[in-house]
Amino acid sequence: MLKSAFRIARVLSWLFLPALVFAQSSPQLSTADEIRAGDALFAAFQKSQGFADTPESKAIEAYLQKVGDKVAHNAKRKLPYKFHLDPHPGYHSAVGYPGGQIVVGGGILALMRHEDELAVVLGHEIEHIDLMQCAQRVIDAMQKDHLTAEQFDKLSLDDFGNPYGKAGELAADREGVKLAVAAGYSPQAAVELMEVFQFLSRNAKPAPPRTDSPSLEERIQQVRNQIKSEGWDASKTEKPLDLP
Ligand SMILES: [Zn+2]
Repeated sequence: MLKSAFRIARVLSWLFLPALVFAQSSPQLSTADEIRAGDALFAAFQKSQGFADTPESKAIEAYLQKVGDKVAHNAKRKLPYKFHLDPHPGYHSAVGYPGGQIVVGGGILALMRHEDELAVVLGHEIEHIDLMQCAQRVIDAMQKDHLTAEQFDKLSLDDFGNPYGKAGELAADREGVKLAVAAGYSPQAAVELMEVFQFLSRNAKPAPPRTDSPSLEERIQQVRNQIKSEGWDASKTEKPLDLP
């Protein structure tokens, strides 16, 4: 009797031990912690860029917020999305931080003609957050650097600037365009903006294909396939970009 009880205890400990080890080595992240992590990262970003809060940039941010709120409306996670401008003309991209902080570069805004293009860019960044890709990066960084939820000021911006892999980026494109279309924008805007980037890189030396992110050709092809499979109207009239 004692022997079999001992055996059962051993089996139980074998069953539960891996679960305990897993729980200890894999930090959990509540939504509130994710938002705090994003706030800390955005504060670090702002400090590193040193951009000033001018009345003009405030007015542009209000416009980004208006378009962003419409696009985020159909996201699965309800988060306090905040859209910011980094006015640097050389910043031709955007970035999403955990919990809903999104920064748009002045350089990418200068390449847009339509609000629809802004909507697909914001949709892409919202999806990095909505698909929990940003939250997973926080968890990975906490593990790598042995950080607790009280040490988000030690998160490195570099960990959040890199692409989320081919599949992750294509998923953000795919779901982001859906959000933009649901908000009334044209899916064709995604193709147009990526064609602008293709045009700008036409004289660049051919580089070996990246393994961590899809090529512009792959991204354009995915949107074109999606327009067909979803039966979206690619000739829908686009709204002019209405920067203040
Ligand atoms: Zn991305």
